[in-house]
Amino acid sequence: KYKTAQKRFWHPMGPPTPGNNGDTLIITSSDGNYVTDVDNNRLLDGVGGLWNVNIGHNRVEVKAAINKQMDELAYYQMFDGIAHPRVYDLADKLIEMFQPEDMSRVLFSSGGSDAVETALKLSRQYWIAAGEPKRTKFISLRNAYHGVHMGGTSVGGNNVYHMNHGPLLAGCVQVDTPWLYRNPWDCEDPEQLTKHCIRQLEEQIQFHGPDSFAAFIAEPVQGAGGVIVPPDSYWPAVRELLNKYNILLIADEVVTGFGRSGCMLGSRGWGVVPDILCLAKGISAGYIPLGATVFNKRITDAIENSQDFSGMIMHGYTYSGHPTACAAALAVLDIVEKEDLPGNAKKVGAHLKEALLPLVEKFAHLGEVRGKGLMLALDLVVDKATREPVNPMDGYANRIAEAAKQNGVLVRPVGTKIILSPPLTLTIEEADKMAAALETAFSSVN
Ligand code: PMP
Repeated sequence: KYKTAQKRFWHPMGPPTPGNNGDTLIITSSDGNYVTDVDNNRLLDGVGGLWNVNIGHNRVEVKAAINKQMDELAYYQMFDGIAHPRVYDLADKLIEMFQPEDMSRVLFSSGGSDAVETALKLSRQYWIAAGEPKRTKFISLRNAYHGVHMGGTSVGGNNVYHMNHGPLLAGCVQVDTPWLYRNPWDCEDPEQLTKHCIRQLEEQIQFHGPDSFAAFIAEPVQGAGGVIVPPDSYWPAVRELLNKYNILLIADEVVTGFGRSGCMLGSRGWGVVPDILCLAKGISAGYIPLGATVFNKRITDAIENSQDFSGMIMHGYTYSGHPTACAAALAVLDIVEKEDLPGNAKKVGAHLKEALLPLVEKFAHLGEVRGKGLMLALDLVVDKATREPVNPMDGYANRIAEAAKQNGVLVRPVGTKIILSPPLTLTIEEADKMAAALETAFSSVN
């Protein structure tokens, strides 16, 4: 039925057609923690969209909130001094939620890439307002993913997204990711690794000039880069170093925000307070696109009090504060809090990881199971001793995912890894089902 249409659009991040696996999976409906495909197979959703279907599919509370808002006011723009009630409600809600971070303002957008771009531009404006206009550079992590706009691409740390799209933004410096399994120092001790990373970060800051940096941007736990969880000591040490050189910390919480890593914010898991939060995905959990950049009082005050701008930020989107998206987000966040989904992600995520860890002993090509909360990665290797990743072109991850699908579970093959990012509403029983399907998959695939 869809054969002709399949040749008419280009898959994001992939070949035009068919899909990445050589065969397009057409999903036609979804409910709770399950999706159903065009052949009527009902699959436990171990993928959760793109790290964003946090409250499960087809929730009546969100549908009701969307319908009510559509009836009242589906959309109106927010330029020219115009606003509407839901955007105020959601801003109130977010600032209340992020009081521990002393957050004071929100700038809404349509998604994660927008939220990152806003944060980068905002941090530059902050330094102009604060009287240090030479602070324009950004420092970030290799292997990071910060969306697809030109700023986010430039601070992103994966060459795959750099090639074919240059020249990138000037003044972007990168340092190594705090990754215990693979790092340039072959270091397996978490404390030591933090020390190596902090020393390298400080060297780069000094080399380029401490007064030239606007901000350090990073994901508290890298998602697209392969679910990299830094050592306990890493984030507090980064914050301390940034304070020493007066550099802003932008936390890209697009994936980790609203519970995925087992805390309401990824950064809170380390007790670290960023200056700017980039939020999207889980804020509206896939129901309607929405992004938000939240910033603290230091930034608000500097810009508001600046003579140069008369308190203006010349940056905004047609869909900034989209009323229906805001209504959806309010209903989503209500569920996140009432059902304590960060707590559930922590509990069920720990259970799922425990269930998967024994598979590392059992299967020759499973090098590591890692993650925090309900963001997990299974690292596929040619050889456990060398930790050399499988060749993505061999399609091993795709075959594992296909076998898991035959066992009723959808998981995400990404080259050298299997990624798990299910709804945060996942139950212990469903986690067991997911682990069992993966065990069968690893047993049956060569
Ligand atoms: N930042 C991070 C950490 C992300 O993982 C993503 C998306 N995967 C983005 C930004 C970009 O978000 P979007 O795709 O909504 O533009």
